Amino acid sequence: MPQQSSFLNQVEVYLPELLNLLKESVNIDSPSASKIQNDRMADWYSKLFTGLIGGKVHRIEHPELGDKLVCEFGTGPKHILIVGHYDTVWPLGEASRRPFYIKDQKAYGPGVYDMKAGILQAFFALKVLKDTGRFPEEKKVVILLNSDEELGSPTSRELIETMASQSDLALVLEPPMEPQGALKTVRKGSGRYKLIVKGISAHAGVNPEKGVSAIHELAFQIQKLYALADTAKGTTLNVGIVKGGIGSNVIAEYAEAEIDVRVASAEEAQRVDTQIKAIRPCLNKSELKITGGMIRPPMEKTKESAALFKLAQEIARDEFDFGLEEAATGGVSDGNFTAGMGIPTLDGLGASGDHAHSPLEYVRIDQIQFRTALLARLIENC
Ligand SMILES: [Zn+2]
Repeated sequence: MPQQSSFLNQVEVYLPELLNLLKESVNIDSPSASKIQNDRMADWYSKLFTGLIGGKVHRIEHPELGDKLVCEFGTGPKHILIVGHYDTVWPLGEASRRPFYIKDQKAYGPGVYDMKAGILQAFFALKVLKDTGRFPEEKKVVILLNSDEELGSPTSRELIETMASQSDLALVLEPPMEPQGALKTVRKGSGRYKLIVKGISAHAGVNPEKGVSAIHELAFQIQKLYALADTAKGTTLNVGIVKGGIGSNVIAEYAEAEIDVRVASAEEAQRVDTQIKAIRPCLNKSELKITGGMIRPPMEKTKESAALFKLAQEIARDEFDFGLEEAATGGVSDGNFTAGMGIPTLDGLGASGDHAHSPLEYVRIDQIQFRTALLARLIENC
């Protein structure tokens, strides 16, 4: 098939350049919390995308965390938003401790898989469209690169939602689901809460009747929290941290718990949020305070997002002889925000590999051509 081979062949020509750029970008540390490092990274990507013919790069500055980039290509009426992030979970100095290297057709280094290779695949997908004169005139492609995804996108969320609201669809460059390299069409939403319990302290031996144990109260509340789970609907809760008390002979005045919530639907997000916020004390004279809330809305499958996946699947099958699958995950990404805005979203379009957030993290070089060409064909056809 001529289209297939022309894109694959062209990306093969780019591959040495792509790997060089990957090495350069992986060897620049970009821990989410470091403004200095993420601004360096923004400089690097800004130069890269400005160099692509017709590219306009807007830099959205932030006083505390790294600046964000919005890279625009084309002026057509159909808007495609591509979302990536250049922050990583790795601390400063990680890149000099274990710099980029290639072994057995795998590329290693901090953030190589999550997601510096994915961003470069998107860059070369656009480049192949430009270089072959096939950038679709009726489209405008916007690549949004954020700097705080690994923190939950606290300073990027608004920008992502604004850009999504101006787009017809969103493609997200997070890694696919391995081992089959499936695209992600469903993600759970997540919430985080903190429960603070105040009791009354007293001597456990002398006058226990005067005390109200915050720990005793918390034990009741933990049971009630877990009872909010509904596994059939995909709703789970985890009390991941508990603290409280100062000694076994003291009735605890204070206790607290941190809670993680995962939901598969907006309806469940609403139900759990309402019920958590409505909890009442079980013990007389103890007091509860709950803070936090739902952080990311679930990425639910819609008719439109299903059609988008089907298109990717058909391209993969007909042109690349690859059986592309879809998968659901409990992990969250910026795709939760675009989908939460009601925009058809396809996630997992980044680099194939494994071991995100682990020193074993790698990218499969033999998959780069296919993933890049698939993204280019998707931009052309969606
Ligand atoms: Zn990521």
